[in-house]
Amino acid sequence: MIFTTIVDIAYLIGAILFVWGLRLLSSPDSARKGNTLAAIGMAIGIAGSLCDNRIDGEGNYVWIAGGIVLGATIGWLVAKKIKMTDMPQMVSVFNGLGGACAAILSIVELSTVSLDTGGKVISLFALLIGCVAFTGSMLAYLKLDGKIWDSQVTWPKHNIINQFLLIIVLGMFTYLAMTNASNTLLIAFLVLCLFYGWSFVAPIGGADMPVVISLLNSFTGLSAAAAGLIYDNNLMLVGGILVGASGTILTVLMCQAMNRSLFNVLIGGFSAAGGAAQGADDQVAKTTSAVDASILLYYSQSVMFVPGYGLAVAQAQKALKELDDTLEANGVDVKYAIHPVAGRMPGHMNVLLAEADVPYPKLLDLDDANAALPSTDVVVIVGANDVVNPAAVDDPTSSIYGMPVLNVWDAKHVIVLKRSMSPGYAGIQNQLFFHEKTKMFFGDAKDSIQSLLSEVKNL
Ligand code: NDP
Repeated sequence: MIFTTIVDIAYLIGAILFVWGLRLLSSPDSARKGNTLAAIGMAIGIAGSLCDNRIDGEGNYVWIAGGIVLGATIGWLVAKKIKMTDMPQMVSVFNGLGGACAAILSIVELSTVSLDTGGKVISLFALLIGCVAFTGSMLAYLKLDGKIWDSQVTWPKHNIINQFLLIIVLGMFTYLAMTNASNTLLIAFLVLCLFYGWSFVAPIGGADMPVVISLLNSFTGLSAAAAGLIYDNNLMLVGGILVGASGTILTVLMCQAMNRSLFNVLIGGFSAAGGAAQGADDQVAKTTSAVDASILLYYSQSVMFVPGYGLAVAQAQKALKELDDTLEANGVDVKYAIHPVAGRMPGHMNVLLAEADVPYPKLLDLDDANAALPSTDVVVIVGANDVVNPAAVDDPTSSIYGMPVLNVWDAKHVIVLKRSMSPGYAGIQNQLFFHEKTKMFFGDAKDSIQSLLSEVKNL
């Protein structure tokens, strides 16, 4: 009895650490601490579960220890090795594996234990959502990593096929919940759910992938919460609900950042192939040199850096911070404009800039940056493209029309650091590069910033 109480207290401490850790994750300053606290919460939860005599697992300690060692080793190695630019892929895979765990737990439960209708509904729910999260996330990984293209996995009228599949899935779900169906039918349901997850993600592409990943993340949370109910494990339930709720909130915020409804994202109205705002053939982008650009920066009063995916590719954050310090030492007010979907994952730019010790108050969100831009002397765009594309504001035929962007053209001068005239992730050209205020500075972002830095230091 006392032992059970101790285990329940361990679960409670674990749950508190999850909530506290999540709270600290909301700021880059405290995120590392939040991660550690949540990891300690998880360790306490695992220890509690191993000691919990309400869980039937006697004699399985070798298997459990083997799983923990193998999982921790693979997780550690992958997290160590992964490049910052490939983080979304890693999140997708980890997320998918979480869904697969919940699905495996529920299939074991459904095929070996005699459950009442409520138990069956919960287990089938965990199976369905876990399978969708697994295959959906694996396809998201393959797409993000450039191993599969949208056109290879999309069929004509794909969304109608998906609706049809969903009806079959829900029909089978109801039948299995109401009857004592055979294991063969259960396996057929499992295969159908796995296929549905893949098919659900297949037509969604381009710049919508972050929203899908976040949605699948919330699915994994829900399936883990359902697994917590199956095993009567409160910590698993709380952890699953936290993941499900935070994934849902992030999904909603990302839809808002793109000015799209979730329905619109899921039926694939915004693909990578959207194609307005092409530069006319006779349009010529003006270029600048390190000398001219550094003079402009040195003699300005306010500078705003706009980091994007190219900053992450070039790993130019530390060089950028050095340029910031040098300009500040010369009395220039330097700020950073952070678009919510800049880079390739939510918070990507915040993480990079925190890594370079850029003070958090210097980071302006979309609304604050847009308010400050008209009084800014020079905007330096560092490997960003879609998030500064005026087509979102002034071209109703563009696929990104309506997405809030940084109105960098409101500033007095715009310098764009990128390697070529190539489009960004959404695959559309950017009229900003031909704007009268814009000068292009071609080259790898880190090299370009370093040459600006040495010129500024020479002035
Ligand atoms: P974009 O992908 O629109 O543009 C990045 C630009 O960086 C490219 O045009 C590229 O041009 C340039 N670039 C690449 N490498 C370098 C380099 N080494 N040095 C200098 N420039 C470089 O990035 P944004 O950040 O503006 O927008 C993000 C896009 O990604 C949005 O469409 C968003 O919806 C999508 N997305 C966002 C996710 C998120 O959660 N944040 C996740 C997945 C997608 P060039 O090749 O000419 O150098």
